[in-house]
Amino acid sequence: MNRRNFLKTASVAPAAASVALAAPAAATLTTKIVRLNLQHTWTTTMSSSAYRDTLHTTYTRGGITGHGEGAPIVRYHEDAVSAQKAVESVRDLLLAADPMQFAKIMAEVFQRVPGEWAAKAAIDIALMDWVGKKLGIPLYSYFGLDPKDAPLTTFSIGIDTPEITKQKTLEAADYPVLKVKVGLATDEPTIEAVRSVTKKPLRVDANEGWKDKEEAVRKINWLEKMGVEFIEQPMPAEMLEETRWVRGKVHIPIIADEACQHAADIPKLRECFDGVNVKLDKSGGMLEAYRMLEIAKALGMKTMLGCMISSSVTVTAAAHLSPLVDYSDLDGNLLISNDPFHGVRVEKGKLILPKGPGLGLTAAK
Ligand code: MG
Repeated sequence: MNRRNFLKTASVAPAAASVALAAPAAATLTTKIVRLNLQHTWTTTMSSSAYRDTLHTTYTRGGITGHGEGAPIVRYHEDAVSAQKAVESVRDLLLAADPMQFAKIMAEVFQRVPGEWAAKAAIDIALMDWVGKKLGIPLYSYFGLDPKDAPLTTFSIGIDTPEITKQKTLEAADYPVLKVKVGLATDEPTIEAVRSVTKKPLRVDANEGWKDKEEAVRKINWLEKMGVEFIEQPMPAEMLEETRWVRGKVHIPIIADEACQHAADIPKLRECFDGVNVKLDKSGGMLEAYRMLEIAKALGMKTMLGCMISSSVTVTAAAHLSPLVDYSDLDGNLLISNDPFHGVRVEKGKLILPKGPGLGLTAAK
C-alpha cells in the first residue's frame, strides 16, 4: 500500500471501528439512605438506638443490576449522609469505568475518597454483585470457596437489664452459639442472666469497654470460668501494649475488632491479639476484606467475619467470604424488622449461602 492509499484507509478507519465496537451500554448508579428498624433497641458501649440508617446503592449496566450497601460507623466519623456524598463524589468514575475492572476501580476509589469506608463498601458490593451476575456464578464461586464450609454464626445479644437479657437469650433458642455484649458496669449480671437460661458456648465482645489492664484480666479470668470461648476487643484500640500484657495472663483467644480496620493494621496486631474480626463496613468492601482474611491466615491468626446492623445485602456479601473464616458473627440482618431483601439464611445457626449469581439476593415481598 502506498502512502496515499494508506492515509485514505486510515481516514475512514475510526468510523468503521466505531460501528464494529458499539459503545458499551450506559451505566446508571443510584444511592438511597434506607432506615432499618431494630426489633430490640440495640445498646453497646458505643451507642443505643431503635433504628439504623444504611446507604444502599445500585449499579446497572447492560441490563444487569448489582446491589450494594454500607452501614456507616460513627466511631470512624461516618453517617449515612456523608456516605452518600462520598459515593456521589466518584459517580463520574463509576459510570465511565468498565465494571469488569472492579479491582482497578476500587483502587481508584480508595485513592480519591478519604475515609468513608461504608461508602466504599456500598460501591464494592454493588460492583461484585454485578460481576457475579455477569459471569453467572455466585460470589463464593468467584472467590473459589465451598459454601458447605460456611461456619455457624453467632446471634448477638445487646446490653440490657438482666430480665430482658434472659428473654433475648430464650428468643435465640435456634442459635447454638451466642455473642454477648459487655463492657459496662453490668458485665457480671449480664453474663449470669444468660447463663441462668443456657449452657451454650458464649463469645463476648467488650467493644473497648475496659480501660484498665488489671480489670480486663480480672474480667476475662471470670469469663473463662463462665464458659466463654473468646473475648473481642477488651481494651481501647490504641492500648496495644496493655492488650499484649493482658493476652499473657488469660487463657482464651483475644480477637481484635476496633483495632483492626484494614490489611495494613494486621501485622502490628499479631503480638497483641490471637485473631481479627473483619467487617465489610470497616474494610471498605469484599476485596479488602478478602485481603485481610488471607493476610491474617498467613500470619497464623484466627479469622472472624462480623457485621454492623445492616440489611441482607451486606450480610450476604460477607457470608460469601465466610467459608474462609474460623468464626462468624453475621446476624445484623436478623436484628431488623424491615429487611428489603432475602439472601443468606441461617438454619440452626449455620449460614446457608444463596446459589443465585452474584450475591443471590431476591427482593422481599
Ligand atoms: Mg466487636
